[in-house]
Amino acid sequence: MYVLGIESTAHTFGVGIIKDGEVLANERDIYRPKAGGIIPGEAALHHYELGPIILKRALDKAKVSLSQIDLFAFSQGPGLLPCLKVGYQMTKFLADKYDKKIIGVNHCVAHIEIARKVTGLNDPVMLYVSGGNTQVVTYENGRYVVFGETQDIGIGNLLDKTGRRLGIPFPAGPKIEELAKQGKNYIKLPYVIKGMDVSFSGIETFVSQIIGKHKMEDICFSLQETVFAMLMEASERAMAYCKKDSLIIAGGVAANTRLNKMGKIMCDERNARFEFMKKEYAGDNGAMIAFTGYLMRDYVQDDLSPRPDFRTDAVEIKYR
Ligand code: AMP
Ligand code: MG
Repeated sequence: MYVLGIESTAHTFGVGIIKDGEVLANERDIYRPKAGGIIPGEAALHHYELGPIILKRALDKAKVSLSQIDLFAFSQGPGLLPCLKVGYQMTKFLADKYDKKIIGVNHCVAHIEIARKVTGLNDPVMLYVSGGNTQVVTYENGRYVVFGETQDIGIGNLLDKTGRRLGIPFPAGPKIEELAKQGKNYIKLPYVIKGMDVSFSGIETFVSQIIGKHKMEDICFSLQETVFAMLMEASERAMAYCKKDSLIIAGGVAANTRLNKMGKIMCDERNARFEFMKKEYAGDNGAMIAFTGYLMRDYVQDDLSPRPDFRTDAVEIKYR
């Protein structure tokens, strides 16, 4: 069975093609704003213009034609509405043209499913850290439950906003990571965990007020150490509470070496397993949508419209 999946929730337009659960192609292009953060309309235009090119690249790579695709899946949300609409419309057009079924996939669930597939960890806690999302998620009673999450901005957004103030272009995460390696002095920052949840906006304000008073390297170092420690605390609590013995980190921020190292240390200390996620599958991609669409192939869905605020725990998981 061939499944084609389209990802378009934010800056990435991705097309993945899988055959019986195995990835044949995973092509993408990422919109990069000239300055500042993502402008939803501009990102949607990027997807609209590049969509057909990425689609062709994926088909060529997989060596299949559109008429061979048995099922079309798309990222139904959460995400930016103008971007979601492009993915939905393209999927609908293709599925209607070839008279095939469509599956609407929750973007966060797709991150977990591809992580389970590529790491081989069957029942992990997932720390999902991206530009707009920060969640600690795990499987309980037929759903992916959000054990803890950010009460305000996503961690990537915190890094990007701080980066902008430091003169680092979007996305700032990689450069902050580089600078942090040269930081030597830890500056005490607010450490904000409220129950199971974390909050970053107070830290963002605090950091904005110390820029210029400390070395950039020390600020980046302190920021990473503080917010990553918060995420480790929430993840460890989820593992202990839900009796899970493995951790994966997904999302764009999962590219960070220091964060992964902390995950490994925490897991080693509790005799749990930690698997590093390859960048190709840690960030937004079409293969994760195709793969989750494949898992959901028997679902009957009456509402396929884009859902900007689609919650991870809103999806009933019937295939596990
Ligand atoms: P996503 O929304 O999942 O595509 O992730 C994008 C976010 O990941 C942006 O906020 C980036 O700044 C962040 N990011 C990318 N690479 C790194 C890195 N090496 N360390 C920290 N954050 C990163
Ligand atoms: Mg994502």
